[in-house]
Amino acid sequence: MTDSIPITQDVLTIPRKLPEGPVNLVGLTREKLREVLIENGTPEKQAKMRVNQIWQWIYQWGVRDFEAMTNLSKAYRAELAEKFVIETPEMVSRQISADGTRKYLVRIAGGHEVEVVYIPETDRGTLCISSQVGCTLTCSFCHTGTQKLVRNLTAGEIIGQVMMARDDLEEWPEPGRATDENGPRLLSNIVLMGMGEPLYNFENVRDAMKIAMDGEGISLSRRRITLSTSGVVPEIARTAEEIGCMLAISFHATDDETRNRLVPINKRWNLAALLDALRAYPKASNSERITFEYVMLKDVNDTDEDARRLVQLIKGIPAKINLIPFNEWPGAPYERSDHDRIQRFADIIYKAGYASPIRTPRGEDIMAACGQLKSATERARKSKRDIEAEAGL
Ligand code: SAH
Ligand code: SF4
Repeated sequence: MTDSIPITQDVLTIPRKLPEGPVNLVGLTREKLREVLIENGTPEKQAKMRVNQIWQWIYQWGVRDFEAMTNLSKAYRAELAEKFVIETPEMVSRQISADGTRKYLVRIAGGHEVEVVYIPETDRGTLCISSQVGCTLTCSFCHTGTQKLVRNLTAGEIIGQVMMARDDLEEWPEPGRATDENGPRLLSNIVLMGMGEPLYNFENVRDAMKIAMDGEGISLSRRRITLSTSGVVPEIARTAEEIGCMLAISFHATDDETRNRLVPINKRWNLAALLDALRAYPKASNSERITFEYVMLKDVNDTDEDARRLVQLIKGIPAKINLIPFNEWPGAPYERSDHDRIQRFADIIYKAGYASPIRTPRGEDIMAACGQLKSATERARKSKRDIEAEAGL
């Protein structure tokens, strides 16, 4: 760990101008919602009940118009409409892959764009959401990593991606009905595996996921939410304590030299530091295993030796290993490992007692697969030199 590595969180704290005009209620925690209602004239005694009612309209039934909130008086509805809005990010485009995967391009305040991917499977439907526009990190195999960080998403923009997808899937229950009376879920899982490093936007990600988990609303179990991090070690314990969701780690290499090149945050928190944090992950148990993501890069990290080292390194950690065949993108400096190589790697892991699913690339025809996300509209690009320097190429 050296101090000279330019991977810091500081750039994220540049204060942004507060939005003018009516306050958007989407993304406020229950406490914050209560505060803004009181500030705007709701009597304190009624505030708790009003929070519950408004919360249910927004997050259980997907209503965006105060006028439709029929258990509130007409006068109160009019007051709310004057002071507040219920806004989710705007869907700019939607592409549907031959395999049913949907990729949405979503516009947020300031004209920035992020991508969101919905992946239907037989027993579940997973929404892959973004936490930042771009990324400060520069993992050398990741398309998002070639795009500069523009800004963190707000909690409203993060939960708003889930709401937008539920709109598109027409999944909100009829007003008055409970979420669990609505039949099998189309959107049953969330993964924070889109653009950005979620642990560099901790508070907003936490607040948004609390909303997703709240029983009087979207109501997804914490076990159905997975946060993937490149290894921001100091925030790992907090993830368990304050969010309580499942954890995935972008592991990708079994020695520091290779990991420094692939996941440069390793220069700040190396494998030993990362593994210590994972061993201490308070929620780690056999029923809640940590997912180790491992991208299969031809001749880079895919030998039998790597597979054996991998199982050695994670000994004692309740884990599953998710092998991700590398997804190519224009100008990518790597190739995907051959099918047989990936299979052989998986066998070694399996024989060592770990589940080792190979992630089937989804939505490749629309560039929706892992690590292919990048908003073409964002011109701020890291220079090739920046990327190579950080990756030590
Ligand atoms: N920033 C977070 C989450 C987003 S990336 C993180 O790095 O964990 C989600 C997963 O896709 C990560 O494991 C990431 O390493 C992997 N990934 C990135 N680019 C990829 C690519 N081109 N092919 C396959 N997987 C990739
Ligand atoms: Fe950022 Fe994750 Fe891509 Fe690395 S893999 S550049 S942390 S989005």
